[in-house]
Amino acid sequence: MSVIERLTKASHLIDMNDIIREGHPTLRKVAEEVSFPLSDEDVILGEKMLQFLKHSQDPVMAEKMGLRGGVGLAAPQLDISKRIIAVLVPNAPDEEGNPPLNAYDLEAVMYNPKIISHSVQDAALADGEGCLSVDREVQGYVVRHARVTVEYMDKHGEKHRLKLKSYNSIVVQHEIDHINGIMFYDRINQNKPFEIKEGMLVIE
Ligand SMILES: [Zn+2]
Repeated sequence: MSVIERLTKASHLIDMNDIIREGHPTLRKVAEEVSFPLSDEDVILGEKMLQFLKHSQDPVMAEKMGLRGGVGLAAPQLDISKRIIAVLVPNAPDEEGNPPLNAYDLEAVMYNPKIISHSVQDAALADGEGCLSVDREVQGYVVRHARVTVEYMDKHGEKHRLKLKSYNSIVVQHEIDHINGIMFYDRINQNKPFEIKEGMLVIE
């Protein structure tokens, strides 16, 4: 049975055992575009990836399933070399600690996502980045574009264009890197990991 056949079975829930770790060659490959109309497998895989992220952010499910929290997942991390990513960025509770009106600031499964334009300004998360495929802390600023415009297809074959800034922009760039065989630490300056180049935005 192929990996995608196994992961898209109705009874299967994606967990940490399905995620390959750094050193696995699939993480360094440029993934293949998916063609439309999508196969049922490609549709279900996208849904399972998003479901994994929801489980990983749910304290009860995450504990039960032994999941690390995640805001993004790319198909190559499941050893499936296809250009499919899922992103799920939660909104913060309000000042009184009540749940936000909308649970998610960004929720999407993107097929063949592509950065079609980006800001000149760079940005990095103040606390650096992590990755479900990397079981260690890697410190330093991961230098990315501050703002990007992304084009992608949804599962129905409809094209979307999305302007992203701040944290959402970073998350989507991290995942698009995965379908191009790039790891987040490739973008850290090895000699000066905390160097702030002029104009670079540091996102708290
Ligand atoms: Zn990652």
